[in-house]
Amino acid sequence: MIPVCEPYLDDKELKYVLDAVKSGWISSIGKYIDIFENEYSRYCGTKYGVATSNGTTALHLALTTLGIEKGDEVLIPDLTFIASANAVKYCNAQPVFVDVHPEYWGIDPEKIEEKITIKTKAIMPVHLYGHPCDMDAIRDIANDRDLYIIEDAAEAHGAEYKGKKVGGFGDISCFSFYGNKIITTGEGGICLTNNDGFNEKARMLRDHAMSKEKRYWHDYIGYNYRMTNLQAAIGVAQMEKIDKIIKIKRNNAEIYSKGLKSLSDEGIIELHPEMKWARCVFWLYCILVNDKARKSRDQIMNELKLKNIDSRPFFYPINFLPPYYSRELFVNSEKTSKKGINLPSAATINSKDILKVIDAINELLP
Ligand SMILES: *Cc1c(COP(=O)(O)O)cnc(C)c1O
Repeated sequence: MIPVCEPYLDDKELKYVLDAVKSGWISSIGKYIDIFENEYSRYCGTKYGVATSNGTTALHLALTTLGIEKGDEVLIPDLTFIASANAVKYCNAQPVFVDVHPEYWGIDPEKIEEKITIKTKAIMPVHLYGHPCDMDAIRDIANDRDLYIIEDAAEAHGAEYKGKKVGGFGDISCFSFYGNKIITTGEGGICLTNNDGFNEKARMLRDHAMSKEKRYWHDYIGYNYRMTNLQAAIGVAQMEKIDKIIKIKRNNAEIYSKGLKSLSDEGIIELHPEMKWARCVFWLYCILVNDKARKSRDQIMNELKLKNIDSRPFFYPINFLPPYYSRELFVNSEKTSKKGINLPSAATINSKDILKVIDAINELLP
């Protein structure tokens, strides 16, 4: 089966993990944590990085650090992975959903204003499937209405908005390093910020809110959201190849877009977008299957499976899911979700396999 995702690992990961094990520092103190935090934040152009146990705890830590609490509202896109919404709920705050842009599937800046109330504290844009959101438009609204921005950049390591890397646009920005993400630490996450106070507070809350001056003194209820030195050792090895991984993913996306161009020209499918102002990293290469196609989205996925090609449907609109159910209509979220397929996108795939996927789709959708 040609997989949708697969981590890109080699001897370097093994070497650093072995080194960490031999050093005895296998919990959350050790040199690899410091190196990883420094390298990842420098890569994204921020002053600080606070590594966490996973991407969801990074989001929760970011929201808590910004003081989001009961009674507050946080604006999030209706089309995202459920962790974005859950993190808001963990603060006893309310996620308020906003429709996405029809072209690039991120939160639509034009639909944000109408959702702002006296309770709104923050906007959480999600750079879906590797494509950045329109950060200038979102920053203008946030400044205007005195709101925080928390970037959920879990799917967009290295993506750029107007030449600047994502992760540098939020008051705090969060990444995930789960096994299927662009780079991985197995499980892992990070909060990035340029703010001295947020950095201090996030570090304190990550470590049981233990006082720096007085051992076992806790002024708040904190968390154990620490990353281990073993995870960070893998992360340091991954940082040595992040640019290579992104280059492969962008190159593979180009092969897909060329090979599927005629189906797109005929309006049968839509190709993964890249706006003029964006450098997309194609975490997962996506296509949308239009009504004009002779087969349904799910039929296409089933027939690909018969040809040993794995694929995935897009996320459901969050407001379709039982914990967040509402009958509110989010036209673009619903349409995009229903039509979208993630194609095999691992950086480990060879171009022959990508051509096999392209041929299969062209055969299924004449
Ligand atoms: C993967 C992902 C997360 C959560 O990351 P975990 O490391 O799995 O907790 C959050 N938001 C988005 C958009 C994601 O894709």
